[in-house]
Amino acid sequence: MHELSIVTSIIKTAESEVESTGGGKIAAIVLEIGKLSGVEIQSLHFIWELCVKETILQDSKVTILEPEGKANCAECETEYRLEKIYDSCPKCDSPFKNIISGKELKIKKLIIN
Ligand SMILES: [Zn+2]
Repeated sequence: MHELSIVTSIIKTAESEVESTGGGKIAAIVLEIGKLSGVEIQSLHFIWELCVKETILQDSKVTILEPEGKANCAECETEYRLEKIYDSCPKCDSPFKNIISGKELKIKKLIIN
């Protein structure tokens, strides 16, 4: 399951982060998971609850940011919203583009007490 490996790796990263700063508790964590990342936020929340028990993230407040998909057309340079990764430019119909946002999958912030 995709979501499970994501949560597992977030926990690992958080743990080593706390270790490297000399211990403490994680008060809050902010995740950035773009709309085009293919992650189902609902199942992520569900798996999160199961996985963080007995870990350093057990009592942390979780915030998930979901940046919209955005792209810049490689042909006409129009900037447009991407609902799906394969959407074409609404102006010239070109499928070639640079994705500006929406594919994020990372820890944006860790607040350690
Ligand atoms: Zn275009």
